[in-house]
Amino acid sequence: MKKVIKILTQNFDRDDSHTLETYTKTGGYQAVRKVLGKIAPESVIEEVKRSNLRGLGGAGFPTGMKWSFISKPPKKPVYLLINGDEGEPGTFKDRTIMTRDPHRLIEGVLLASYALGAHAAYIYVRGEFTFCMEALGKAIEEAKEAGYLGKNILKSGFDLDVYVHPGAGAYICGEETALIESLEGKPGRPRNKPPFPAVVGVFGCPTIVNNVETIAHVPQILLNGADWFAKIGSDRNGGTRLFSVSGHVKRPGVYELPMGTPLREILYEHAGGIIGDIPLKGVIPGGSSAPILRPEEIDVGMDFDQLAKIGSMGGSGGIIAMAEGTCMVWALHNLARFYAHESCGQCSPCREGTGWAEKVLRRIEGGHGTASDIELLEKIAKGMSARTICPLADACALPILSYLQKYRDEFEAHVREKRCPVRPKRAA
Ligand code: SF4
Repeated sequence: MKKVIKILTQNFDRDDSHTLETYTKTGGYQAVRKVLGKIAPESVIEEVKRSNLRGLGGAGFPTGMKWSFISKPPKKPVYLLINGDEGEPGTFKDRTIMTRDPHRLIEGVLLASYALGAHAAYIYVRGEFTFCMEALGKAIEEAKEAGYLGKNILKSGFDLDVYVHPGAGAYICGEETALIESLEGKPGRPRNKPPFPAVVGVFGCPTIVNNVETIAHVPQILLNGADWFAKIGSDRNGGTRLFSVSGHVKRPGVYELPMGTPLREILYEHAGGIIGDIPLKGVIPGGSSAPILRPEEIDVGMDFDQLAKIGSMGGSGGIIAMAEGTCMVWALHNLARFYAHESCGQCSPCREGTGWAEKVLRRIEGGHGTASDIELLEKIAKGMSARTICPLADACALPILSYLQKYRDEFEAHVREKRCPVRPKRAA
């Protein structure tokens, strides 16, 4: 087992981890003291680039490179938006940072805003997460009183205001341009790109959208250096990440582990293995949009590049384990139903395709499908892929194609036997 390194979760086992007092006692706001007014914003961006910090919301885009897309000097005000929507099924890690260590996120926001030249930042939080908004609101007040937010922060001449903005619980608002639309008070529908948000973002101004976990890493990177962070992870994937592990494991939970930790180690050592010690049947490695892996594929290192190499993705780091006895047609139908419900309806391949796929899957799972339904499902998924405004259509299509490829015999058995052949043995 690799050494456990705690960066984001170092204070999680303390009852008062959310307070300014605990955060400052354990090194909090030291990076701000080191950087603000003393290190040039361009050097901060270079340091984050060298750290190999990737976007941990799902896309895995290199964070420092994203920041460098803001033109210098900016012609309009620059905004930083923090994506705390966390809607990807199987993902439950950003909420732990927002409630257990909100000051780590605020310090990250302050450092990122300084690097970008932003004087206003919004933390967009999923509407149901009232507990996160409450924790962040209190922490922002504490930070203001202590002089870490507001005007002339620590006499550096830098000003920053941070606002918490509630979403309304739509999955699609996790997509950065839908989030921007929602923040502007409009329905959360993704925009056509280009222009990208770094050119035309919120209120028509240059904007960077980053995930909560990504930004919470920034203070320690700037305090300890890019090399320190890069070395913790794997090639081109710096540091640690929070893996949300759920499904049929003995110890579900959030595990902070170095990027590149083998999936087998996460499932069988950290999460305790499969309930009842029954064999694993399949595992989703990066939130529900990630193509599924079979048990023989779990020696993969959990980073964006290694997962892409075997045809899946790191996504949000949400790992869902499914034991023998799980009906894969039922599991896929469950996912398709979610995506059909969450499609914003702008693009016909997504609007029609997700709903159509859901109906076909319902038919097969219920024992009413025909052999041609399996071909039809494949055709629908291929027709949805890579031809829409945002990746939601692919988030539905890619799992469909992977389940069909890896568990086709189970789809065929449903059609042949006109019933679910697995359900009587389904795991608890
Ligand atoms: Fe909306 Fe789906 Fe098109 Fe995305 S792909 S913009 S969710 S219709």
